[in-house]
Amino acid sequence: MQQADNLGAVPGVDHGFCSINDPLRPETVFICKQVHSASVIEWQADQVPNTLEADGVFTREHQAIAVITADCLPVLIASENGAMVAAVHGGWKGLQGGIIANAVQRFADQGIPVDQLRVAIGPSIKPCCYEVSEGFIGQFQIDQGHLWRDGLAPWSFAQPTPLLPPRITPPYARQAGSAWFDLSGYGVMLLQAAGLKREQIEVSKVCTYCTSPTFASYRRRTHHPQEPKTLIYSWIARSDR
Ligand SMILES: [Zn+2]
Repeated sequence: MQQADNLGAVPGVDHGFCSINDPLRPETVFICKQVHSASVIEWQADQVPNTLEADGVFTREHQAIAVITADCLPVLIASENGAMVAAVHGGWKGLQGGIIANAVQRFADQGIPVDQLRVAIGPSIKPCCYEVSEGFIGQFQIDQGHLWRDGLAPWSFAQPTPLLPPRITPPYARQAGSAWFDLSGYGVMLLQAAGLKREQIEVSKVCTYCTSPTFASYRRRTHHPQEPKTLIYSWIARSDR
């Protein structure tokens, strides 16, 4: 199980980024039916896990909540006093749809201002391994270019070197004119656009594709279909202590 230092320092909050069989994963954990939406719901005791369509969940109760991912961003959020927590699934679609701003607004609605948030982005596919098409980049620039204006867009045309020594060889470029997309960098841009400062955000260096086979990667599995299907459980809970 991986943990983020900034969330680990929040009193009364437990969290983790776990593989599916991790013994440290809580036994009863609430998960939405994730559909790449921008919707963030409040946990309710009568909700059946995996039925309600949404991609983020928050609670002020002592109930573990989680998102499942395999390359997308798992985003865990806590108020610095430990009173409220949220788990968000961030694929590019839901991120572009506004799920980050929606999650931050849910805290504001509960009287928790943005400067009191701590955010951890867990293991996700990094630009070393996330090839996207020329067409994708063109449309993304039109839809989201206001976020970076004259600054750096969240992609590069040269394939970046992995941040951590890879145990799996990163993929070779499969398309002409493609780019290497920085999903977690884009997530940080959206968090900053929602009012967070960079120091409130911790980003895992783990690339789900290349760092280690223990991390679930949808993209790696499309290239290596013999691999077993698995997921990352990213959970957060107000602890009973
Ligand atoms: Zn990688």
